[in-house]
Amino acid sequence: MARDVERLKERMSLLEYLQRYNWKPCRAGSRQELVGLCPLHHETRPSFYVNAAKNLFYCHGCGRGGDLIRFVQLFLDLPFRQTIAHLEHELTPAPASQLLEQTAAFYQLQLHRHPEAICYLESRGFHSHTIIEELGIGYAPGGNLRRHLADFGYSFDLLLDTGLINSQGCDAFCRRVIFPCRQLGHIINLYGRSIGAAFPHRLLPSPKGGLFAWDSVGSCPNVILVEGLFDLAVLWQAGFRNTTCAIGTQLTPAQLAQLVGQPGRSVYIAFDQDKNQAGQKASYQLARHLLDAGITARIVQLPHGHDPNSYFVAGATTADFTDCLERAERL
Ligand SMILES: [Zn+2]
Repeated sequence: MARDVERLKERMSLLEYLQRYNWKPCRAGSRQELVGLCPLHHETRPSFYVNAAKNLFYCHGCGRGGDLIRFVQLFLDLPFRQTIAHLEHELTPAPASQLLEQTAAFYQLQLHRHPEAICYLESRGFHSHTIIEELGIGYAPGGNLRRHLADFGYSFDLLLDTGLINSQGCDAFCRRVIFPCRQLGHIINLYGRSIGAAFPHRLLPSPKGGLFAWDSVGSCPNVILVEGLFDLAVLWQAGFRNTTCAIGTQLTPAQLAQLVGQPGRSVYIAFDQDKNQAGQKASYQLARHLLDAGITARIVQLPHGHDPNSYFVAGATTADFTDCLERAERL
């Protein structure tokens, strides 16, 4: 057990673990120490010290301290042995995650072999190869995923359980543009947008996870929140790299926790302007919730009937959207 503990601590430092959960030091203390808000208790003045060289923490507010294992134990409220098991699991990608990585890589290769997918992306105002690569966007032409994954030794049952194929062995994402949803580096779900007549949106039957691209967006002081991944794609393309997406207007508790996790953050909510007012209602509800949690919330009004994606398809520019952000209503 002692060897396991030492091995775990070699694989990930306390500081790396804290940074995975968006902990940020406010300033450097003396003797190679970093100081920030304590993730273990509520405080407004930083009293949580991390000594990166010694790989130890101490909080002068709640009086607790120790190594990585002790921190995770307190942070997740787990017994010692379970903490070790949890960390082992977190640091080793699960087979399901490897399967999704291989599936996403396969779909990525298919994208450039199928002009209909590229045409679809262009019709949605999206053409930047850099961002297509960065978001890992792919295409499921249908028909050949099972054979490809069988070559890697994945069983029919595993593919069926994961929801990648149906009981006939056909690709469940057939004729869809694919966005891999990542959390802490691992793919945890796939979103597929139909380019044909099928129901537009599809996710695998597993949690949609946290906010999209939070690993990079989470550190921004101003965040733009949109409904759909094509909204996010055109905004990234237009330079708004601080855009994230909840895939829908209803945020999970984990997604809400991410938004309110950093005091002083401003959130620009840019949901669809729906005829039935659904997007607008959801915006106000969310804005009030954020406000209660001490986060500045602004509601972005787009021209009537538009979502960020259709606005750019209709010819809007970076300057036009910047204008909308500047005029956004502050609650
Ligand atoms: Zn504390």
